Amino acid sequence: MRRAVVIGGGVSGLASAFYLQRKAQAEGVELEVKVLEKEERPGGKIWSIKDQGYLCEWGPNGFLDSKPQTLDLCAELGISQQLLRSNDNARKRYIFSNGMLHRLPENGASFFASKLISWPGKIRLAMEPFAPSSPAGVDETLAAFGRRRLGNEALQKLISPMVSGIFAGDPETMSLKSCFPRIAELESEYGGLVKAMVLLARKKRRERAEGKVVSSASGPGGILTSFREGIQEVPESLAASLGAGVVATGQSVLAVNQGKSVPFRVQTDTEELDADLVVVAAPSFAAAGLLRSVRGDIADILEEIPYASMTIACFGYEKERIGHNLDGFGYLIPKAEGMSTLGTLWDSSIFENRAPEGHVLLRSMLGGACFPEYIELSDDEVVARVEKDLGTIIGVKESPEFVRVFRHEKAIPQYTVGHGTRVKALEESLCSFPGLVLTGNSYRGISLNDCIASAVRAVDEGIAYLKKR
Ligand SMILES: Cc1cc2nc3c(=O)[nH]c(=O)nc-3n(C[C@H](O)[C@H](O)[C@H](O)COP(=O)(O)OP(=O)(O)OC[C@H]3O[C@@H](n4cnc5c(N)ncnc54)[C@H](O)[C@@H]3O)c2cc1C
Repeated sequence: MRRAVVIGGGVSGLASAFYLQRKAQAEGVELEVKVLEKEERPGGKIWSIKDQGYLCEWGPNGFLDSKPQTLDLCAELGISQQLLRSNDNARKRYIFSNGMLHRLPENGASFFASKLISWPGKIRLAMEPFAPSSPAGVDETLAAFGRRRLGNEALQKLISPMVSGIFAGDPETMSLKSCFPRIAELESEYGGLVKAMVLLARKKRRERAEGKVVSSASGPGGILTSFREGIQEVPESLAASLGAGVVATGQSVLAVNQGKSVPFRVQTDTEELDADLVVVAAPSFAAAGLLRSVRGDIADILEEIPYASMTIACFGYEKERIGHNLDGFGYLIPKAEGMSTLGTLWDSSIFENRAPEGHVLLRSMLGGACFPEYIELSDDEVVARVEKDLGTIIGVKESPEFVRVFRHEKAIPQYTVGHGTRVKALEESLCSFPGLVLTGNSYRGISLNDCIASAVRAVDEGIAYLKKR
């Protein structure tokens, strides 16, 4: 019997363990899988906290159904029946600009009617098909791409808020190719974004006419999906499906060393474990520390991946006291507006069961790469700043009846310019370190779908290695 040790019990580590067990069995590899998680609960960034009738998501509040990975995993776990799609009104998303909320336009007509972008800005956006093409061989920042193709106003009011909503990131440092590879591909394949949209829509119409099954039009981003009891259902079901004793919590891995009779010896704060295969699903900065003594070159690259911190403030109110209909998903705020918060999600409008009957739950984000110092704010300061922004933006005059503040130090990896080169260098270095596989949100995507895709890749690589040995 061989042993695989997975380091880190977030969704990436748990999904790696799940697919390792399945694939080993399917391919006749006798394998014991062990997950070592530093904290007292598995799930990593995922944690659905129930308190006084409110359901607060500590980290992610769902996944998008436009990609198959999480949906497929839920089907394999037998929990598809419990999936909860976001309410239809969650399609309505807003940007706060010039003192008011503007609904994000969903089509050409609403775009021209919207007051979010000025007429000069709209004309500049309409010139997108004539924008200069991407400079060859350059890892362009999101800001440079935005200015080049869409103009400065669209960068400030559309791209920047989106980047802070997804990555808590700064578009002036983030890499287009690493953060949004599909957009970079569309530009190089079709010569522009408008051209790509027109040609892809035409292709879809043709395929439909030919009777082919074409992916449903739930919008390019898909529908945000979770569970009645929160997104924690995913890691909980994964941990339960792995079987008793597989996930060991409260086990901090200190180092991965080379073994004598087996390839690896994994040292935790309480024991040492032999392993034939090691899957490191801890964040890159933690992975660097574990690998420093055996492979300083790999640790050096891992340490170059920066992280942004984030603070989340959950506010609960009696519905009739809030004075706003909260009809939609919530809003994001461009940096130029000078607010403390990056945006606020109207969680109880997005999913049912997030607040007690007659109450609402709002979840505001602060910090990110543009405001790293905010992680130091006290709870009182966080609450005061969020109250002020909510007052200005949606006119809430009352103090919340329920407050929870969560801090994520090193919340989200930042795929800054050079990230693609770093990931390639890691892959090359790992070729000479067979049996050690890196997975998780530090490399090829931060969404839950990306993390699960990364786990599947890690498992394919790991099982192929075990079969060769
Ligand atoms: C506030 C926030 C909101 C988000 N919203 C969304 C969203 O709505 N939709 C979406 O798709 N994605 C969202 N994301 C991103 C997504 O949640 C993460 O990318 C994903 O959960 C990361 O999973 P992971 O397993 O790769 O890493 P993590 O969840 O960070 O797990 C890594 C695990 O490794 C453990 N670990 C670290 N060091 C050691 C060690 N030495 N020994 C043992 N264990 C160790 C940690 O304790 C942790 O449990 C959000 C992220 C944040 C922070």
